[in-house]
Amino acid sequence: MSSNIKVKRICVYCSSEFVAQTTSTKYCSKKCNSAHYKTKVRAKKVERSNIETTQKKHKPIQDVQAKEFLSVKDVSFLLGCSIRSTYTFRKRRTRNRTQNKYFRLSMVNNNLIN
Ligand SMILES: [Zn+2]
Repeated sequence: MSSNIKVKRICVYCSSEFVAQTTSTKYCSKKCNSAHYKTKVRAKKVERSNIETTQKKHKPIQDVQAKEFLSVKDVSFLLGCSIRSTYTFRKRRTRNRTQNKYFRLSMVNNNLIN
């Protein structure tokens, strides 16, 4: 619905001054309105994609941390070292104990602190 009022406004997208017929008009043209909308949609897509990437990046760590017992491969992944180093680490830790095939997460955490 148009009215007889003429209001000077500044376009949100191109920052040019224009004369609007309502006080709620934000854009100088349909072209600026569409361009600004597309920019916002594109920014949302990029943000959503970045969030998905971050979640995928941290998912393997969360999966490993959810386990009660960890395999040598899991421990080497958590510690960021080779599987051979993890075997050496396990050999030192279990020298006077019964040989376990799997690590407990608390055992890994305690060794990280010390
Ligand atoms: Zn404009």
